[in-house]
Amino acid sequence: MFIGIYVFIRVLRVFFEVYRIKKNITKTFDTFNNFHTKNAQTKEGVMLKCVTCNAYVAEELSVSYQNRGERIFFCSEECKNDFIQGSR
Ligand SMILES: [Zn+2]
Repeated sequence: MFIGIYVFIRVLRVFFEVYRIKKNITKTFDTFNNFHTKNAQTKEGVMLKCVTCNAYVAEELSVSYQNRGERIFFCSEECKNDFIQGSR
C-alpha cells in the first residue's frame, strides 16, 4: 500500500521533470526564433515616409530630392514633382 503511493509520487515527479525540461526547450527555441526574425527585419531595410502622400516606402524604392541641404524622400516621381511644384 505505502510502496504503491511512493511509486506513484516518484512517477509524478518524473512526469513533472519531463514537463519542466520540455517547457525550457520550447522557451529556448522561441528565443532562437525571435533572434532570427529580428535579424530578418534588420535586413529588410529602412522604411521612409513619403513627404507628399505620407505613404511608407522602402529606402531602395524611394525617390530622393535635395531641398535646401535637406534630403527628402518620396514614394514616386509624381509625389516628388508635386512637392517641387507645391514649394514654388
Ligand atoms: Zn507619395
